[in-house]
Amino acid sequence: MTPAGGWPCGRQYTGTLRFHMRLGFDLDGTLADLQGALALEAAALFPDVDPDTLPKSVAPGSDAGPEEAAGRGDAAEAARPDVPLVAHALTARQQRELWRHVCDRENFWETLAEIEPGALARLFHLMQTRRWEVIFLTSRPETKGDTAQLQSHRWLVAHGFPAPAVFVVHGSRGKIASALALDVLVDDRPENCLDIAIDSQARPILVWRGEEGKVPGSARQLGIGTVASVRECLDILESLDRDGAEPGGMVDRLRRLLGLKPRSGRPLEAPSASRASQAIGRES
Ligand SMILES: [Mg+2]
Repeated sequence: MTPAGGWPCGRQYTGTLRFHMRLGFDLDGTLADLQGALALEAAALFPDVDPDTLPKSVAPGSDAGPEEAAGRGDAAEAARPDVPLVAHALTARQQRELWRHVCDRENFWETLAEIEPGALARLFHLMQTRRWEVIFLTSRPETKGDTAQLQSHRWLVAHGFPAPAVFVVHGSRGKIASALALDVLVDDRPENCLDIAIDSQARPILVWRGEEGKVPGSARQLGIGTVASVRECLDILESLDRDGAEPGGMVDRLRRLLGLKPRSGRPLEAPSASRASQAIGRES
């Protein structure tokens, strides 16, 4: 039975204890370099394809932008992280063959590199020192070898996050964020951020490594904050938490840190799915 006034610990803020932020992080395209791993596999599988046309994910500060990485000069498309860049170099048949090959590869998910080396170690340090709760979410398909969950768990440990909670999930990230009572979910796909904005109280943060001008115009209107890197995202979350967050004020402070307008005295109206889908350029 819950005591009057709520539990004196955990997520019930009593005025004397710190509110623990509960954060969710996507893996592929956000933390893990799936694109680069696919490009390597594609180069081995299709030797006739010019390896220079096979892209790799680019960490912030690298000399090459997404367009250069794509090697195709198609800036508008290459700058969209939700478009698999390998698609620019391979036919549909080759892509199907590539995925069959990848799923046949033992423990493929452990071969990926970290997009921003050191980001996971920093996140783990922050989780410990700021008393955050962190869960990793991924929709990876199964491959030969261990389950995608176990491979992902070992990958996170190997890259500096020794105690990960990771789940392989399918369906709306928004419903998952709601069920897990997440405060923030960080993802590289605008569609997932849209689901989060619609279906949960969590605040979506879009990691957008493409051109700033290519961010869907409505993202801000829908309360989707955008960052250029996980490093920037962690800077913001650290600032948000540094001065002692209270649940009531956290949303507005996060919105300000992300360059969004604070709510005007009442909760942000959730956009309808069809209106929001139209606005963000997704077919409903
Ligand atoms: Mg992703």
